[in-house]
Amino acid sequence: MTIKQGNVYIADIPISRPHQLSMHTITKQTIVLVKLTEEDGLSGWGEVATIGGASYEEMTPEAIKVTIDHYLMPMILGKKAADYACIMNDIQKHVKGNRFAKAAVESALIDLFAKQKGLPAYELLGGKIHDSLPVAWTLASGDTKKDIEEAQEALQQRKHRIFKLKIGKGDPNENVRHVLEIKKALGDEVRVTVDVNQSWDEQTANQCIPKLQAGGIVMVEQPLPEWNEEGMRRLTASSALSVMADEGARSIHDVFRIAKHHVGDSLSLKIPKHGGPHETKKAAAIAESAGMPLYGGTMIESTLGTAIAAHVYATIPDMIFGTELFGPLLYQDMVSTNALIYENYELIIPERPGFGITIDEDKVLYYARDHETRQKGGNMI
Ligand SMILES: [Mg+2]
Repeated sequence: MTIKQGNVYIADIPISRPHQLSMHTITKQTIVLVKLTEEDGLSGWGEVATIGGASYEEMTPEAIKVTIDHYLMPMILGKKAADYACIMNDIQKHVKGNRFAKAAVESALIDLFAKQKGLPAYELLGGKIHDSLPVAWTLASGDTKKDIEEAQEALQQRKHRIFKLKIGKGDPNENVRHVLEIKKALGDEVRVTVDVNQSWDEQTANQCIPKLQAGGIVMVEQPLPEWNEEGMRRLTASSALSVMADEGARSIHDVFRIAKHHVGDSLSLKIPKHGGPHETKKAAAIAESAGMPLYGGTMIESTLGTAIAAHVYATIPDMIFGTELFGPLLYQDMVSTNALIYENYELIIPERPGFGITIDEDKVLYYARDHETRQKGGNMI
């Protein structure tokens, strides 16, 4: 049975409150969905999410779609999903970079092959170690009082007890005050980390990190721009709290260089940024071999993208910092007919074949970006 059709959709889905990062405030989240359909009608789906067009990642949603349509799909059509590793190997040889596009198609291939076999996708990714994963919530309303209320509600509902604060925007001293006030309100039982998203210079980081550490913050994520590896190395050496590499750690070669030169002492994984499930596993193995604690990061994917990450992270032995697979909880609507289950501060790994998510195609078409795409049911190859 070969793959006869590929469709790529860009969808903008409203979220429940503005989500403020240093470079962009999300009000609608943009995802790219890939559907691969076999001759018998069985289909596999992949998803990657992007943040703020070109403001977070070099690959925009439009670029992801064009790359898949014009360069990756011709290497997939007419092939069998069972040959997904060969297909991805060919793609790696012939397509440089473009990791978000590769992640979307590899996920769709794995979803399709796992469905053929009637297996959960984690069985193709090394096997499941964890039945569920702890999930941090990101406080990013930009308002201290609102953030405290949001965190207290999440604690009461036993949804989250790890909180990450996005603090790269605005006055750094005010941001540190904001973080410490929240940490104090939430108490010792609650773990609080911060993500600067590359916004500080080294001097600012040197002033702020000791205050954060003294206030009980356990980790600071990518405080300096990704190019400033020397600065990140000095901060890692001088800081008592963990300095996590995120935006600077994309390819497995980035991760190796960061591990070797201590450009951070922990690593945030993300399926799209590494280029797919198997490249993410390699990144995790490099970090593990260097003794770097791991964090299961997110691009704020919807149900499917979050399930893809959950299946990958469930196969990784230790995620010391937990995960931030909260994406679907922030969305106002789903493009799937089933939801992920969150209970007792954790996300349950879906058990159904593939990544365990059934896509609602009417919803996909409803949120698909342009009218022409909606009419035609996606861009057909
Ligand atoms: Mg980050």
